[in-house]
Amino acid sequence: MTKSYVIKPELGKEYPVISHGKGIYLYDKEGNRYIDGSSGAVTASIGHGVEEVAEAMYAQAKEVSFVYRSHFSSDAVEKLATKLAEWAPGSLNWTFFVSSGSEATETAQKIAIQYWQEKGRPTKNRIISRWMSYHGITMGALSMSGHVLRRKRFTSLLADYPAITGPYPYRKPEDMSLESYALACANELETAILRVGPEQVAAFIAEPVIGASGGAVVPPDGYFQRIREICDKYEVLFIADEVMTGVGRTGKAFGIDHWGVVPDLMTLGKGMSAGYTPMAATIVSDEIIETITKGSGSIMAGHTYSANPQSAAVSLAVLDYVEKHQLVEKAAEQGAYLLAQLKELADELPLIGEARGLGMLCALEFVKNKQTKEPFALSGGVGGKVIQKAFEKGLLIYPAMGGIEGVAGDAVIISPPLTITTEQIDELISLLKEAVIAVQ
Ligand code: PLP
Repeated sequence: MTKSYVIKPELGKEYPVISHGKGIYLYDKEGNRYIDGSSGAVTASIGHGVEEVAEAMYAQAKEVSFVYRSHFSSDAVEKLATKLAEWAPGSLNWTFFVSSGSEATETAQKIAIQYWQEKGRPTKNRIISRWMSYHGITMGALSMSGHVLRRKRFTSLLADYPAITGPYPYRKPEDMSLESYALACANELETAILRVGPEQVAAFIAEPVIGASGGAVVPPDGYFQRIREICDKYEVLFIADEVMTGVGRTGKAFGIDHWGVVPDLMTLGKGMSAGYTPMAATIVSDEIIETITKGSGSIMAGHTYSANPQSAAVSLAVLDYVEKHQLVEKAAEQGAYLLAQLKELADELPLIGEARGLGMLCALEFVKNKQTKEPFALSGGVGGKVIQKAFEKGLLIYPAMGGIEGVAGDAVIISPPLTITTEQIDELISLLKEAVIAVQ
């Protein structure tokens, strides 16, 4: 192999080179096959090598790939925004296009703060978020993220945002019902708002189902309904970070739809273009856009590649594919089957404390002791070892070691493309079982 000058996640390590992908499978140049059991980083949700997307990409490239959003709009961008307005709940009708989830959450943060400025309330400029959370790697997004491992080298550069814990049903106090736990967790937001003062708080941001920092942690019913009430009471905008959960991943169009709650802003990424191109979005309510339109008339955000027609055409083809193949419904059905199989593994294998998830976003949490739920220390956890073993066996899964020593779990995410069949789930489960057994 010739020397590589690519900066890779683990410096000094050699990574296999992929030659092509088809459906749920990826193939490297050595001829090894991998089941993409995590859709990469919960991204390739329609599977690899979809012809329709490649054709849409080529057709747009022949017309025009790039125009700058300060100069022009394009058919692709207009159509995509219209489709997203149809998909999104309530009056979430306006889309600001960006190229990554981090840009999307950071744009949401900026729009929320600008909205209050335009309302003549500039002190409302703080964001509240949760410790078990990940909203992105750029500084504004990282400020809102509780993922300690990713934060700790840069704390001097971060606005100190996370304030509340967020629900973690697996580790709730045993004598508390799920219902009262949901309310107690949500009420932490009220306490946090009152502590800072409602006049200081612009928005609250949360992932409907916690991804990278906890591993498919599903909140109890009632949690987000109460969050919405609290946000309304104190005039705090609610940002649903749907970068991981959006576009069908959890078996509904958006994760927050499971609780019938309508946020004021919503962020998308990952599944929005299913990995075929960098594409992400911040979707904004009528009220916010009307206020800013009447005020300064311009949102102070944007990137060179924002709203480029090439990415829009690809994302449009992906959404068409999701609709045509009813992948949202499939994610619910096949996800239920996947979770049932994971729960069987959890019953069987001593290392697995819990199998959990929603739709096609599932996780296993590993524990030292199943009865006491004693977590592994982050440095000595088994999630990383299971990921490595699975990789050697030709199965890709995704880390979700929350980065909060002694609190958040040692978990891995299993989130295959929404197109996966029952037989392929069985194949995935048997490799996963072998990987866990090899580690225990
Ligand atoms: N928000 C959530 C919920 C995520 O899971 C991620 C990435 O994992 C991000 C934001 C950041 O997205 P990106 O890596 O595309 O910047």
